[in-house]
Amino acid sequence: MEHTRPIIALLYDYDKTLCTQDMQNYGFIPSLGMAPEDFWRLANAFGWHEKMDGILAYMYIMLREAERRDRPFTREDLVEAPKYAALTFDDGPRADTTGRLLDGLLERGAAATFFVIGEQVPCNKELLQRMKAEGHQIGNHTYSHVRLLKADKDAVVEEIHKTEVLLTEAVGEGSFWLRPPYGLIGSERSELIRTPMIYWSVDPQDWKLLNKDKVVAAVLEAVQPGDVILLHDFYSTSVDAALEIVDRLQKEGYDFVTVEELFRIQGVEPQQGTLYARPDRVRTLS
Ligand SMILES: [Zn+2]
Repeated sequence: MEHTRPIIALLYDYDKTLCTQDMQNYGFIPSLGMAPEDFWRLANAFGWHEKMDGILAYMYIMLREAERRDRPFTREDLVEAPKYAALTFDDGPRADTTGRLLDGLLERGAAATFFVIGEQVPCNKELLQRMKAEGHQIGNHTYSHVRLLKADKDAVVEEIHKTEVLLTEAVGEGSFWLRPPYGLIGSERSELIRTPMIYWSVDPQDWKLLNKDKVVAAVLEAVQPGDVILLHDFYSTSVDAALEIVDRLQKEGYDFVTVEELFRIQGVEPQQGTLYARPDRVRTLS
């Protein structure tokens, strides 16, 4: 599916002027493995033409999935209403556990978001490069896992900036969204943050349970489409749980996307310094 790469790049930093004819010319529609007439009939049936943002985001996801599965999409894939969720992993990377998690996610065609600790970046550059190459999102979890609620302002800036510099060295330029350690940040400190901030909407307390089956059960009981699930790739039991969660929810029709993709799919433009539990739910700061 070589010919789809330019359109993926195009859609990723998409331009709102991109028109339907371009999509056809760039080989996007043929790559779905269906006739253009069928595609547009479906698109119209869904009212997609009225919400271009959502369409482009959805197309991007479909293309990426098609590349991973190495098979074109069928009509059934498109008609079945997709359910999306974002798995997020804090406190890594950690050589033994994160590597195994990446293997499992790749096997399953699932994407995730990793909020990494700056201190652990220099010795895990290859893992980070792999995350980026395999379509995961990388975020900032501060340099030394500080409580941003109480840290003084200089320390807040320093903790975030140092991590950004290390991440840029490891994987190149990017917008590294912040997950404040413990999910805690006050409104005054949040004004110093130049990226969106991501909380979570499902927390199975994997760090406390340290038990695969209990973590899986807690997530399956709570999860709804559009949720942001909090886990820690630091624990082997959490890696096992994450892979089983993917297996179980994929059977229920879920697709796992990055947090950034979840915002695009829901057509929400994330704002810097705002803490989101999920794209459609802002968390009030203290
Ligand atoms: Zn943490």
